[in-house]
Amino acid sequence: MENKQYILKERPYGDVTSDTFHMRRVSMPSLREGEIMVKAKYISVDPYMRGKMNEQKTYTEPYVVGKAIYGAVVGEVVKSKDKSYQPGDFVQGIMPWQEYCSIHTEDVTRVNVPEADLPTALSVFGMTGLTAYFGMMKIGRPKEGETVVISGAAGAVGTIAGQIAKIFGCRVVGISSSEIKNHYLEHDLGFDETINYLTTDDLDYELSRKCPDGIDIYFDNVGGKISDTILEQMNFFSRVIVCGQISLYNSKEKNIGPRIQSMVLTRSMLVQGYIISNYYDEYPQALSDLTKWVQEGKIKSRETIINGFENLPRAFMGLFRGANIGKQLVKVF
Ligand code: NDP
Repeated sequence: MENKQYILKERPYGDVTSDTFHMRRVSMPSLREGEIMVKAKYISVDPYMRGKMNEQKTYTEPYVVGKAIYGAVVGEVVKSKDKSYQPGDFVQGIMPWQEYCSIHTEDVTRVNVPEADLPTALSVFGMTGLTAYFGMMKIGRPKEGETVVISGAAGAVGTIAGQIAKIFGCRVVGISSSEIKNHYLEHDLGFDETINYLTTDDLDYELSRKCPDGIDIYFDNVGGKISDTILEQMNFFSRVIVCGQISLYNSKEKNIGPRIQSMVLTRSMLVQGYIISNYYDEYPQALSDLTKWVQEGKIKSRETIINGFENLPRAFMGLFRGANIGKQLVKVF
């Protein structure tokens, strides 16, 4: 049987290009006791992977040049050397960008949903849903009537974060790069207002028009100039959830922004970054809340799915051009 794998061919300097990746054929994996062979069904592409393509270690180890890229995968067990897993079972875990891989069952979790719902294990019930949940619940702490602004609003984290804020009775303003995305946010997800940051001449003015009472919570997915502008309009005792800085991930130079300490001081602002794994022990409660909200129709999950293993690089690079609405996934089989 054929088995394909993507490796990191070279570290990108600036934008990721197709030269960053190389697809090669590898042999089918062998199985040891306690392992399963997993056929990848859906592979998640995520902005954090850009950081792992750099040489420097951050909160996570860099990818190794010449070795497989890896990330979140949902797959089907096709062979098992663990009695508690049978062919046909679905599992998820951190696995290589590879059609078939072997993995110890201690490193996977079971996914008990019908095949049609597998994408949700990587979106609302996956890392990005949890990221939205903990950012909003632990740092944002939304209260009824507050104004919440979300950048990267139409992406995987942003769509869920905005809907959680709506559950708590907030006024939610989403920022994205297109009218189609903004239409989706307002008409399908119930966001109160949206701004297209690419077409507006004056983001500061648009924000003040759409947030007449100032901003109480800013869920920052993008950083850079968009965030610089938003921070100017934060209220007293406001909270800034520093979730991601995607607009800077491909920067070749160190980015110098405004000095925000005076603003933080005089407005008693809370500015807090976080990494989702900080809250690992609380995942069960988060998943229980997210499940309830999805069942009640209060949260909708959306995935943008590209077919074909060979399209993994295209899907990944699309994140930096805003090609996705909701969670970007690649369907392998
Ligand atoms: P998304 O699904 O939001 O995809 C990325 C989106 O970012 C694009 O669709 C695009 O939307 C926007 N974007 C890309 N480039 C730029 C740019 N230069 N300026 C402004 N917007 C840009 O990704 P996720 O939801 O998975 O992740 C969102 C953020 O959360 C990322 O920064 C990510 O790194 C971070 N994150 C943090 C975690 C944590 O533990 N703290 C965990 C998971 C994610 P548009 O078309 O609107 O521009």
